[in-house]
Amino acid sequence: MLRLHNTMTRSVDEFRPLVPGQVGLYTCGLTVYNYAHIGNLRTYIFEDVLKRVLMLSGYKVRHVMNITDVGHLTSDADVGEDKMEVGAAREGKSAWEIAEFFQRAFVRDLHRLNILEPDTWCRATDHITEQIELVRRLEEKGFTYAIKGDGVYFDTARLPDYGKLVRLDAEGLRAGARIEMVAGKRNPTDFALWKFSPRGSKRQMEWPSPWGVGFPGWHVECSAMAVKHLGERMDIHCGGVDHQAVHHTNEIAQTESAYGHPWVNWWIHGEWLVLPKEGGEAAKMSKSAENFLTLDLLIKKGYEPLAFRYFCLNAHYRQQLAFTWQALDAAANAYSHQRRTVQDLRPGHRPGDKPIEQHMAVFRAAAEDDLNMPQALAAMWAVAKDERAQGGEVYATLLEMDRVLGLGIEQMEEGELAISRAEIQKLIDDRAAARQAGRFAHADQIRQQLAAMGIILEDSPSGTTWRRA
Ligand SMILES: [Zn+2]
Repeated sequence: MLRLHNTMTRSVDEFRPLVPGQVGLYTCGLTVYNYAHIGNLRTYIFEDVLKRVLMLSGYKVRHVMNITDVGHLTSDADVGEDKMEVGAAREGKSAWEIAEFFQRAFVRDLHRLNILEPDTWCRATDHITEQIELVRRLEEKGFTYAIKGDGVYFDTARLPDYGKLVRLDAEGLRAGARIEMVAGKRNPTDFALWKFSPRGSKRQMEWPSPWGVGFPGWHVECSAMAVKHLGERMDIHCGGVDHQAVHHTNEIAQTESAYGHPWVNWWIHGEWLVLPKEGGEAAKMSKSAENFLTLDLLIKKGYEPLAFRYFCLNAHYRQQLAFTWQALDAAANAYSHQRRTVQDLRPGHRPGDKPIEQHMAVFRAAAEDDLNMPQALAAMWAVAKDERAQGGEVYATLLEMDRVLGLGIEQMEEGELAISRAEIQKLIDDRAAARQAGRFAHADQIRQQLAAMGIILEDSPSGTTWRRA
């Protein structure tokens, strides 16, 4: 039985989908004005584990993830600049080029972390019509008002249960509001659905609308795209805990107001990756200069991306995880140890070997208990150390567990099993002979053949060596 924590109910409940056997999953994607930092990536790893556990439990998952490429302002209070335009100014490129570049970088990071891609990627700028349609619907039902020269806003006072996700005291906020807010807002919690382009200046990204030329608010995009791709009701919506109070709260408000019924059954949020500060409070990782760590930086320092994935699996997704280089070293060592174990076991593995049910049951129980990955890793180590078990079956069990863990055991297998060291050497010799004879096309063909098996050749004056890709 799969049990998952639901932010809405504040409890770990038995998971039941809307349609038996199927799950609709929406995960908030990256705002592509910069690289993802490793704190962002922790969230995507948690969501990937969720998806894989759903699949392990026999569900067919339909996963949609958005790319925010317009409308996410530097402040949650509907003021400040559009992050895309900030990124464009920083890089000296157009907002469109920035979006394209960082989206590619994001997808590359996901691949390197063995994160399964969604069935549907959707970009906010490809769904302007749907967003305008949603705002129009809200306008028809009387939930909106316009602020001259600023934008169209959602009137949160019209919704009695506004803020229910985080049990927000909207009433109290309204009564004692001392928060800085956009002039003309009726309530401090009201939020922009459509922002007008600033008077006298042309934005790079702007569109006509019934209310004036401008761009959609960040929250509107997720609602519009989630409804378009998953329907008016859906099973699970995910994000980081920092999405709860504003982004997801506003998504709920506008979607349930527009359609007149509950929208999402399960809200699941991942905790922060934090950077402990000497003698001070741990800080959330953010894009401010001093604590902006990327996967590229980790790779440059010699860490394997999957060692970072392993590091993340060591903490429950609802607990903060402190990032230190020592802790990452420890995870990298454990990951290398796992690789050695896999390599030792591999020769004994036969195609018919079955996973050991006793160990799988322990693993599954941990995974289905609100994605308890620390316990799932313990189950993985327990089978690896089980001396009474037959090696081939231990290996088969690790492979089965890796369907959830995503630590790349199968890739480790392919790299080794696809071709023996002797065969690699023979091909290297053949290639050298071909080059000697001037048959360069054939030599190149051998290089490509090896590359396809994850073997990279390196030529030097002293001869050719090879390494794993
Ligand atoms: Zn979102």
